[in-house]
Amino acid sequence: MDTMKHGGWVLQHATTDVLLKLKPHAEAAWKHMQHWSDPLLQRASPYLESSTRWMDAQLGGLMPWQIAILSAVTVLLLVWLLQLVLAAATDLKEAGVLQSMFEVMKRLPGIRGIVQRENAKMLVKIRASINKENGVSHEQQYLELPKVGMAADDLKARLQSRGKRDVAFKEGSSRVSGTLYLMGQEHCRLLNDVYASYSHTNPMHADVFPSVRQMELEVVAMTAAMLGGGPSGDREVCGAMTSGGTESILTAVKASRDYMRARKGIRRPEMVVGQSAHAAFFKAAEYFNVKLVMVPVGKDYRVSAAAVARAMTRNTVLVVASSPCFPHGVIDDVTGIAALARRHGVCCHVDACLGGFVLPFARAAGYPVPPFDFAVPGVTSMSVDTHKFGMAHKGTSVVLYRSSAIRRHQYTRVTEWSGGLYISPGFAGSRSGALISTAWTSMLHQGHQGYVKLTDQMMKASRQFAEGVQAIEGLELAGKPAMTVVAFKATKPRALNIYAVNDALSARGWHLNALQLPPALHMCFTAQHASVVEALLKDLRDVVQDLQSGGEQVKDGMAPVYGLASVSPDRNIIGEFLVAYQDVLLSG
Ligand SMILES: *Cc1c(COP(=O)(O)O)cnc(C)c1O
Repeated sequence: MDTMKHGGWVLQHATTDVLLKLKPHAEAAWKHMQHWSDPLLQRASPYLESSTRWMDAQLGGLMPWQIAILSAVTVLLLVWLLQLVLAAATDLKEAGVLQSMFEVMKRLPGIRGIVQRENAKMLVKIRASINKENGVSHEQQYLELPKVGMAADDLKARLQSRGKRDVAFKEGSSRVSGTLYLMGQEHCRLLNDVYASYSHTNPMHADVFPSVRQMELEVVAMTAAMLGGGPSGDREVCGAMTSGGTESILTAVKASRDYMRARKGIRRPEMVVGQSAHAAFFKAAEYFNVKLVMVPVGKDYRVSAAAVARAMTRNTVLVVASSPCFPHGVIDDVTGIAALARRHGVCCHVDACLGGFVLPFARAAGYPVPPFDFAVPGVTSMSVDTHKFGMAHKGTSVVLYRSSAIRRHQYTRVTEWSGGLYISPGFAGSRSGALISTAWTSMLHQGHQGYVKLTDQMMKASRQFAEGVQAIEGLELAGKPAMTVVAFKATKPRALNIYAVNDALSARGWHLNALQLPPALHMCFTAQHASVVEALLKDLRDVVQDLQSGGEQVKDGMAPVYGLASVSPDRNIIGEFLVAYQDVLLSG
């Protein structure tokens, strides 16, 4: 879904406000600086000369040992200054000259106040806009415990009324890209029943709930067997369950970092990812102090081995390939990138959060699928989401490793705790056994044939859509779709604003994903889209035609925001907007 959908117009207003207000101040500040700096230098020069004469006179009366101490102190001072300058230079290099200038400018007295006031105004606007769109103002809010507990019937009625605000859809005709992966009322009911019967369980207590432990290891084993592990592949492949794709990626990055530290003693770890790699890698870099080295994608939107090779250093611990990537749905050069990792003796993660439960079955259904999993030598870990195309409830995913020698680096052991001897497999302590049981149930209920059938249906829908897009004048595909994600952009961005296309589609009830770098949109087809392709293509054709023949853009849409985000040199203002938006979501 589009994170910035609500209150999107606010950013445009807020940032243009800030930029416009800053401009005269910047100019004035510059003039002001020249005004006092020139005379100051002139006035200072006689003092500078006399001070050197003064120093000569002073030093002349000193003993040699005193001069030696003075020199030593001076050297130390210079070193300290040099360090300061170097640190500033590093900041400058990392943030970029332009961004650093903006940061300095925004800290100047007078300007800082304006930025703060504008940010406060922005927050108020975002809050009002989100609450209006979500209909919050019409509902009673509960921000403190009720004195007396509410009756079950009452609560159910309230939940039902709140649920009415959410997007509703009929089976198989979702208008939302991705998001809803679960399919079939019968499948869904089964999972809900299973959840209810395991809702009290927790795999942390393997001795109390041995059934859950057994289900977790079976989910992992079945997933590994689909992806180049298991009896017909590499039997060493192993893994663990996590709460979702992001956690699988975070876990793999942490394990790879510590594995490489143990093997090669790398203490300033770096990882190389394509610009199309999932945002979870950026999060992992932030959490685990791994330097993120980002490489651009090629003309085909894939990350090439050559690009990765250029970015590798002695400190590289991990290189990443996506199968496929979220934005354009293309599969990176897994074979080339994994070979590179193998040659350098470093880890290689394949992110198959999206593709893990599609690509093996697409291959079985006869679609061409390049090597992308543990069948490729050099791949050391993978992330695979049971809660996407595995058709399980949200809250489960699988992280896989080439061998248990890597997996053990995701564990935490504590031997000096008064609470006892402690070992934990990953980030979480307690976990939901119920979610594990639903993932297990989903996989066994679908079976190989069930997944192949659903995949074939989704592949057909995606191909039909891709062909339809290519036939629309003014649009072209952004990358050749490897599976069920179809990305497209304007053939001539000056003639057609693709974000305006998105706004017009949103006005017709569609929720597509907006991409950037370059501006594009994508639709991720799931089992819920079997009967909507024609309708989507028709709306897309109408909207593009209308905009190209001078039709009005949707008012208060996202197009101006993305337009601004794509040209704004101050990335921090965009970042500040995102943070303000998140603040509002979390606190009302
Ligand atoms: C969805 C996705 C993820 C992360 O998924 P979450 O389950 O939302 O944390 C990672 N990589 C790709 C390619 C994805 O599509």
